[in-house]
Amino acid sequence: LPLNAWAQWFEGSENIMGTQVVVSLWSPSDAKGSAAVAGVMDIMRGVDNRLSPYKESSELAQLNARAFKAPVVLSTEMAFLYEQSQAMYALTDGAFDIAYASVGKLYNYREKKAPSKADIERLLPALNTAHLSFDNSAKTLQFLNADVAIDLGGIAKGYAVDLAITYLREQGIQNAYVSAGGDSRVLGDRGGRPWLIGIKNPRMQKDDDKETVITLPLEDVAVSTSGDYERFFIDSVSGQRIHHIINPKTGRSASEVMSVTIIGGEGVRTDPLSTAVFVLGVQKGINLVNKLQNYDAIIIDRAGQVHYSNGLMPPAS
Ligand code: ADP
Repeated sequence: LPLNAWAQWFEGSENIMGTQVVVSLWSPSDAKGSAAVAGVMDIMRGVDNRLSPYKESSELAQLNARAFKAPVVLSTEMAFLYEQSQAMYALTDGAFDIAYASVGKLYNYREKKAPSKADIERLLPALNTAHLSFDNSAKTLQFLNADVAIDLGGIAKGYAVDLAITYLREQGIQNAYVSAGGDSRVLGDRGGRPWLIGIKNPRMQKDDDKETVITLPLEDVAVSTSGDYERFFIDSVSGQRIHHIINPKTGRSASEVMSVTIIGGEGVRTDPLSTAVFVLGVQKGINLVNKLQNYDAIIIDRAGQVHYSNGLMPPAS
């Protein structure tokens, strides 16, 4: 650890954005360290207030309520996230699609409710990015279909974690860990050692949170995991696992794999990429990640088998 007698670790954990936000940072000053932890929590709450689909006053909820009637001018932040999302849509052949919510909004994981076959069939035509009309110079968005809805749940947490790390850097912090549920990012190292980020066993009981199958030693990267164990229920009729990652082609839970972890530079990319690779499955997912520079993937398939992208494979001997 750094040889500054006064420096110490500051930790914080709060429930924000429907998940646990965790911060750990190193600061030489007591006042600065606690203020930085509080500052990160403020940033997370701000993102939640602006992007939550459940808060009626959020920009996202307003957009869903108004954009079919007339074009809505997007904030700089919303325009940025919209453009990032569309880039991810193109990169992943539509596996990441913020219009997933056109059908996805009918799932209620807390109440264990899935839409009926008839509801899915009725709304699936609305789940189409072609219904989103973005004017790049005016930065306006209009919905061309009355049933289309968008949701940024697959990118907002990674983005929020990026904002937090940028803020910490500006505060002069050099070693930090920030996570929001499955999205983490680390700044620097953990005082001369790498940060250790664990990948959970996808079939552990919820309260056995600490059970990890793989531990990654990392510095200065973002790591996002999408798992079918985060928000799910078992359908009492079909016995199927209904969870929060939706295949845009079917309007139903993607079922190829159990978990996907993406390692890369920024949460705003690793977060949607983990969701998309989850939808794409092992073969297409690994192929996609191998084509990208500076990204890696760890996929746990339905049999519990672990697959790695090329960057994580041991060199051939
Ligand atoms: P989280 O970031 O919530 O830990 P994930 O990274 O696994 O979880 O993203 C899943 C979230 O992404 C879902 O809760 C939902 O909000 C959104 N989502 C689900 N399916 C898709 C999809 N095909 N395209 C874009 N977003 C999706």
